Amino acid sequence: MLFFFADEDVVHRRIDFPVYKNVKDAPRVIVVGAGPAGYFAALQLIELGVKPIVVERGKDVRSRRRDLRAINIEHIVNPDSNYCFGEGGAGTYSDGKLYTRSKKRGDVNRILELLVAFGATQDILVEAHPHIGTNKLPKIMQDMRLKILEFGGEVLFDTRVVDFIVKDNEIQGVVVNEGDIIEAKKVILATGHSARDIYELLDRKDIFIEAKPFALGVRAEHEQSLIDKIQYSCDYRGEYLPPAPYSIVKQVNGRGMYSFCMCPGGVIAPCATAPGEVVTNGWSPSKRDRTTANSGIVVELKLEDFKPFEKFGALAGMEYQKAIEQKAFLLAGETQRVPAQRMVDFSQGKVSSSIPKTSYVPGTTSIELGEVFPNYLTDIMRQGFQEFGKSMKGYFTNEAILHAPESRTSSPVRIPREENTLEHPQIKGLYPCGEGAGYAGGIVSAAIDGEKCAIMCVESMQ
Ligand SMILES: Cc1cc2nc3c(=O)[nH]c(=O)nc-3n(C[C@H](O)[C@H](O)[C@H](O)COP(=O)(O)OP(=O)(O)OC[C@H]3O[C@@H](n4cnc5c(N)ncnc54)[C@H](O)[C@@H]3O)c2cc1C
Repeated sequence: MLFFFADEDVVHRRIDFPVYKNVKDAPRVIVVGAGPAGYFAALQLIELGVKPIVVERGKDVRSRRRDLRAINIEHIVNPDSNYCFGEGGAGTYSDGKLYTRSKKRGDVNRILELLVAFGATQDILVEAHPHIGTNKLPKIMQDMRLKILEFGGEVLFDTRVVDFIVKDNEIQGVVVNEGDIIEAKKVILATGHSARDIYELLDRKDIFIEAKPFALGVRAEHEQSLIDKIQYSCDYRGEYLPPAPYSIVKQVNGRGMYSFCMCPGGVIAPCATAPGEVVTNGWSPSKRDRTTANSGIVVELKLEDFKPFEKFGALAGMEYQKAIEQKAFLLAGETQRVPAQRMVDFSQGKVSSSIPKTSYVPGTTSIELGEVFPNYLTDIMRQGFQEFGKSMKGYFTNEAILHAPESRTSSPVRIPREENTLEHPQIKGLYPCGEGAGYAGGIVSAAIDGEKCAIMCVESMQ
């Protein structure tokens, strides 16, 4: 057996902040959204001597917690403050997995090093699959905000962008809340994949956007001990091995069905962003020490799937997604309870006679999940779970509980931009950025895209 030791110099290297300039009186750029794309864009702007004004519809991380409690306990969804909206964006209360498919190691390292400078442990620099954990991310995001403020940037919470001011195809600023105006000739738009009102606004104003395929399915939960047993081929993991993750993909009826955002030792979270819908996702604490393992299990969608919604044009995929989330809400009892079914029962089309308590705090309602999805998706998932069971012996079990839907895997809309300038092709000064614009999927790639947009934006100001 080979043992690899991490290079001590790497693990204990001192990581300094970049040299930030005081930008209090510098030219300004509006950054819409305080997610990873927005905050990394803001810090990059400061590094380059430009003042960011970050505009965020949600609350700071601490105040945001009250609204998460209200979703879990009282089933109340605040459309401006929830698991997706608020300081730190969708990633704040996540697993904080930091791996990315980005090939540019230099960019990835820079993001990881910045996270370390803001308080993440140095382990993330050497681990193959680094993650931070829900308990640690909020403080990191808060410290990023403090740094932005320290060097003269602004961060405005409870400030929702409701309109763009455009003159002769050039952006002049944004309108917020009840009509206040914030002026700037450059706007980085980093509003994430759940800002449906922003897509609707762009569409209404005839600012070019396009439908984009995404993936959709369920969130499956197993006992972590079962996943450990399957992955480590032993009865008991012991104290030296971490809770086992898994990653699986199969082709079923010509479509990819795969695990997405797997959370070992984690919890399933209610991630709706508006009343009247049910959405799932997952998170884990840094130690991943919960007894359950969950993962999105999703099927790739194609543009042709959105045909029943074609009257919505570029918003067809978003309406398809919304219809499934709203159906789940109605079927489960018009609260944040989630439609649920045991895995084998689902594959046999049989309503489960009982659903054991799962990690999803608002609770479950036993439903035949085929009622939530179009038939072709149900068929693929029914077969797919059986295929998964062939590759991971023990995975296909009636002890596993499926929660539906997992629907916010990536943006259903792309906001186009020029490859060389990153500007919107029609609106000068508008920089579509991060996951909501369709150029990132995950915390690290959103952060990388934020920095890229900031650099291009500043270049255009020279
Ligand atoms: C529960 C959960 C777990 C996740 N786990 C992981 C993980 O482990 N690893 C990983 O890499 N990714 C994970 N993700 C995905 C990750 O969070 C996103 O990919 C990432 O946050 C995208 O960054 P972003 O900055 O582009 O957008 P977002 O993080 O979505 O941020 C957008 C921000 O814009 C704000 N906004 C929206 N509309 C407006 C408006 N009109 N005016 C003003 N502000 C507005 C929102 O409030 C939000 O704060 C998870 C997501 C969730 C929900």
